[in-house]
Amino acid sequence: MNPYHKTTGIIIKVRSYGEANKHLTVYTKAYGKIHAVAKGAKKIKSRFGSTLELFTETKLFFYKQAHAELYLLTQSQIATHFKNISKDVKKYTYASAVSDFINTFVPFGEKSHSLYELFIQTLYKLDTEKHEEKVFSMFMVKFLAQVGFRIALDCCTSCGSDLKQKIRMSVSPKHGGVVCEECSDGISTVEVFNNTLKLMDFLHRKTFDTLSKIMIGEQSHMEIEKVVEHFLEYNFELRLKSLKVMESVNSYGK
Ligand SMILES: [Zn+2]
Repeated sequence: MNPYHKTTGIIIKVRSYGEANKHLTVYTKAYGKIHAVAKGAKKIKSRFGSTLELFTETKLFFYKQAHAELYLLTQSQIATHFKNISKDVKKYTYASAVSDFINTFVPFGEKSHSLYELFIQTLYKLDTEKHEEKVFSMFMVKFLAQVGFRIALDCCTSCGSDLKQKIRMSVSPKHGGVVCEECSDGISTVEVFNNTLKLMDFLHRKTFDTLSKIMIGEQSHMEIEKVVEHFLEYNFELRLKSLKVMESVNSYGK
């Protein structure tokens, strides 16, 4: 097998590795999420320059033996630098939260063209849009669908009773959708407005360009986050780290 590889990827985690090296987590087009090592990348005159900064989309050239776990980075070039994300605290915090979803819920080595597209489009929009929370809400809804969950909306997923007219809904991560009062007894649910679920369905079907034409209230953002977080954490049995940090940044900005 050819040990030389090249692909494009988004840097989602960087840490020191030994005295002069960097250990990276990269979400790549061709190989999904991978670990890589950039030797000498911490040195001031490193050949990697600024290509390995967080959230940069970078063209990567690797060396990897068939049995080895780590990709050894040999060369890199910037493909897309998100200059607003890198200097705006709010944008940076949202980009961190988006990366956290990839870091936490996407297994290593599983490539997905559509997830890569969702990730890069979200970064583009965070970089250029004024309303970062709208971009983030749309990302979360689309991410949930990417990893296999679409919330059933109109009928109780346990007994089938019609819930279309209800104003408040109980969503059960275990059942994969809304549940009626009787069926929600004794199971873990998230309470949200029916309108929030309709909005999620809308966001799932539309593209990012639609966002400029719609308004989303603060309550809806909070409820979307609550539903998505519960669904993912329940089904993957893993916890997101960044959402709490984001709350504090948002309240600071008010
Ligand atoms: Zn029921």
